[in-house]
Amino acid sequence: MTSKRITTRTSKTCKAKNGRGEPCAAHAGADGYCAFHSPAHGKARAEGHKRGGERNRVPHGGGAEGLPKRIRTLTDVLAVLDYALAETLPMENSIQRGRLLVALAHAFVEAIKTGELEARVEAIENALKARGEVKA
Ligand SMILES: [Zn+2]
Repeated sequence: MTSKRITTRTSKTCKAKNGRGEPCAAHAGADGYCAFHSPAHGKARAEGHKRGGERNRVPHGGGAEGLPKRIRTLTDVLAVLDYALAETLPMENSIQRGRLLVALAHAFVEAIKTGELEARVEAIENALKARGEVKA
């Protein structure tokens, strides 16, 4: 009990004020602030939190709100693929990311190929209709 009182009396208290505007009663470090109020510690803590957050989650690269609710057309498919690509690119490099990028590239090739075939079939149909060989 006695030793505790001496410690309290001899040690400096924090220069900062608490939430109620009263002087902080915590033990102060070399800079005159407690660990909670120290500007240096606060900055390091904030940066630590930021780094920790960045490690744990990758920010969204694509805008999910612009995605179609249902996939009905090739344009819808391409919108989803664009979104998936935008989400994947900012991720930290890994084997999974590499595999996903290859899978996305394959899906893009399939979708674009299908779209080109549709366009060519439509052009042929239109040409035949113009010649009167196919009924509209
Ligand atoms: Zn303090």
